[in-house]
This record gives sequence, C-alpha cells and structure tokens, in this order.
Amino acid sequence: MSNDIGLYGLAVMGQNFALNMADHGFKVAVCNRSPSKVDTTVERAKKEGNLPITGYKDPEEFVKSLSKPRKIVILVQAGKPVDSTIETLSQFMEEGDVIIDGGNEWFPNSIRRGEDLEKKGILFIGMGISGGEEGARNGPSLMPGGQKEAYDLIEPILMKCAAQVDGEACTGYCGPIGAGNYVKMVHNGIEYGDMQLISEVYDILKNICGMSNTEMADLFDEWNKGELESYLIEITAKVLRKADDQGKEGEVVDYILDKTGMKGTGRWTVQEAAEQSVAAPTIAAALDARYLSGRKREREDAEQILEGPKDKPNVDKNQVIKDLQEALYCSKIVSYAQGLSIIKAASDKHGWNVDLALCARMWRGGCIIRARLLKGISDAVAKDDELKNLMVDAGFAEELNSRQMAWRRIVTLGISHGISVPSTSASLGYYDQYRRSRLPANLVQAQRDFFGGHTYERTDMEGTFHTLWDASH
Ligand code: NAP
Repeated sequence: MSNDIGLYGLAVMGQNFALNMADHGFKVAVCNRSPSKVDTTVERAKKEGNLPITGYKDPEEFVKSLSKPRKIVILVQAGKPVDSTIETLSQFMEEGDVIIDGGNEWFPNSIRRGEDLEKKGILFIGMGISGGEEGARNGPSLMPGGQKEAYDLIEPILMKCAAQVDGEACTGYCGPIGAGNYVKMVHNGIEYGDMQLISEVYDILKNICGMSNTEMADLFDEWNKGELESYLIEITAKVLRKADDQGKEGEVVDYILDKTGMKGTGRWTVQEAAEQSVAAPTIAAALDARYLSGRKREREDAEQILEGPKDKPNVDKNQVIKDLQEALYCSKIVSYAQGLSIIKAASDKHGWNVDLALCARMWRGGCIIRARLLKGISDAVAKDDELKNLMVDAGFAEELNSRQMAWRRIVTLGISHGISVPSTSASLGYYDQYRRSRLPANLVQAQRDFFGGHTYERTDMEGTFHTLWDASH
C-alpha cells in the first residue's frame, strides 16, 4: 500500500481535511492518538463516496504506508501535543520527508521544531489553515511557510484542496518556517477586528435605531450584495434570523451571554504589533472589547453606579443606516491596512519576504475574513510594492476621503448616546493620525526631555537638543 499523504490528528479539522484531500483523488492515510477517531474517519470516507482513505492505528504502520518522500499533515491541538506527535512520527521518517503542522501555532514554536527536524534531514512546514470545519472539508485558505523544497513537494496537493476564487487557489508560498503561522495569526487578528466592527454596527442599529433582529438581518443581507460582501456579514444575517432553539420566544441571539471567548491568536497579533512598533488600534480595541465583555459581573455592578448621557440627540434612522455602511467599509480598509503593516514589519525583520498581495489573495476564499474587498486590496498591493500603507493607495484614499464624514458622524453618534464603538473610533483615530503631518508628539518629546533629559530633535535645525526647562532640572 502506498499512500500519497498522511494526516495525523482526526478531530474536526483533521477529519475534514483528510476527506477533502481524498475527494481530490489523493490516497490518504489517517491516524490519531485515540483509535476510535480513525474508525469514524474511515466510515465517513465510505459514506461520502468511497473516498480513498485508509486508517492506521499504529503510527509506525501509518508512516511506512506513505510513498517517499513522505508527507504528513499534523492537525492536533497546538503546543505540546504537536511536539509529542512530531516525536512519535519522526522516529519512523527519513531524510527528505516532510511534516506539515496545520495548527494555529505560535510561530517561534514552528521555527524551533523546524531547526530540530533539520538535524535529522526532515523538512518542516508551519501552515495556517482557516475556514473551520466547512473550509477544511470543502476548501480552506492555506498559509504554508517552510523550506521552499518542502513547499514544492506539497504544492500540487495544496493547490487542489484550497478554496478556489476566480480560478485561483487560496494558497501560496508564504516564506520560510514561521511565516505561514504569522500570516494566519494576523488573519485571526483581522478577524477579531471585523467581528467587533460588525458588533458595533449591530449595537447602534439595535440600541439607537431600535431595529428588530429580522430588520437587521434584512439589512445585512442587503449589504452582502454590495461592497461589504463577506462571510462574516453573511453569517451575521443568519445569526440574527435564527429562532431560539430552547423553546423560548424570539431569536437565540438575544439569549446568548454577552461574554466573548478567545483562544489567543488575537492577543498574539496585538503583542506582535507592539513587538514590531506597528500601530494596530482597530485590532487592539477588539481585543480590549473581549476582555471587558468578560467582566460581566463587574459591568452589572457598574451599571448601577456609572451614568451615560441623559440627553440623547434625535436620529435620522435612514441616514444612520447609510452612514453605518460607509463607516464599516472605511474601518475595514483601515483594519486590513494595520494587519498588512504588521506582516510587512515582521517579514522585514525576519527576512521572510512575504508577498502581501499573496496574503490578500489567499484570504479571498475559504477563510473567515473572506470578503469582496480583498480583491481590491490584493490589486493595490500588487501594483505598488513600495506602498507604505494601504490607505494611501490612490483608489482606497479616494474611498476613505469621500466617506470620512459618514465615519465621523457614526463615531459622534455612538459617543453622544453612550454606546461605545471602540474599533470604529480606533479605526478613525488611526486614519486621522496617519494623515496629519504634524501630531502633538512635540509636546510629549518636551515632557520627556523635561523629566528625563531624553533630548529631542527640532524641525528647523539638525542635531539633538536638551533644554533647561526650569531651575530644578
Ligand atoms: P483540537 O480540538 O485542537 O485537538 C484535538 C486533536 O488533538 C485530537 O485529534 C486529539 O487526539 C489531538 N491531541 C490532543 N493532545 C494530543 C497529544 N498529546 N498527542 C497527540 N494528539 C493529541 O482539534 P481541531 O479543532 O481539529 O484543531 C486542530 C488544529 O487546527 C488546532 O491547532 C487548531 O487551533 C487549528 N484550527 C482549528 C480550527 C477550528 O475551527 N476548529 C480552525 C483553524 C485552525 P485525541 O482524539 O486522541 O484526543
């Protein structure tokens, strides 16, 4: 028996990705720590059209069933389980074989594993996968980073199994080990931003415009036919329409506890932005919003103590809806600009040479942040590899300039009603800071020099200056 590729780790992602590869005609060997999942996967393969999947309960037999050079995708829980899985499998592997870890992994872990495996001549790829269960089965976005020769070995499989948009596969070579995990991490950071921005729109529609869930669902469906078309807008409409499934009146969304969970990739993105000295306020505000949501009991107590505005301005609902659409579009552009800036800075620092246009192209299908807007982003980045920031691309600059007043009206509206719009206002703040050639940083520099003698530069003379600010300094 000679299988084309192995897949170890048969939970939600692994099982579905194995079926996806088999669906494209690859002979897939599967294995898992608990043997019961091997049986389930083989049964599913039979049911879903006698797909060419063979189950193995012994890791050695699993590895030896593969044609050389062997290619094994690992989809187990990120962290220590990946180390122990690599240890188990690599003892049966040989020089030139490839391990592809498809988990949401912290990129330095992939770099460490790649270095360890290199000593044995085994190649390694850290590959971000996005799209959840559905994507894994029918075409995810795949973001691989590893040795180029390792990528070349698996490229034909990835190209077929990834999501396809306009005849292009949503995958490509991200760069050396670590680069793929990094691109996936930033994808997830942008996902945090997008979800928060949509939830701010929902908050205004519900609590300022007084719209029902069905009315909001209709609006999101309408928006999904235009420039805001995206997976997250599409599912938001579906979420808002879903009747309660526990027998209560109305929609399930109204019964869901307002406390957001998270697994860490958003936090990593914000940490990395700080590490690269890149501003990512939209994503950071989304992360903060999740932290504050987690303080449910404290918020319940605070509601009894802290006040919001008493006099709220009247609203023109139709104007607010129009403005929201434009504000959301602007905030999204700005959020993607931040994400790409983080990747660019890390790529320069590590010498990864990540192609930003490829990132936007890979995100066009299969993944959670897939959106119509990504075509324009990919084109803008591709036509000018010196582009300093997505916002200053001529096309996007025009869109931001022409919509900025709507954006400002929405932020003002939220603030005047005591409905916070942290990611929308952070996005506008980023735009307003980036577009001003003079910021109040001169005063901060003066303060730093005053108390710490940190010195400053001047606008009118070369050199470094220190002022004797008062007698005591
Ligand atoms: P998961 O719940 O993260 O992990 C479960 C799998 O890990 C099972 O196969 C389990 O084996 C295995 N495992 C756990 N500890 C192990 C150990 N010490 N040694 C060997 N195997 C071990 O699975 P998942 O949700 O399918 O995700 C897999 C990876 O893809 C993760 O890194 C996840 O972050 C990433 N990812 C997930 C999604 C998603 O939507 N779920 C989307 C994108 C990326 P047993 O069956 O024996 O317990």
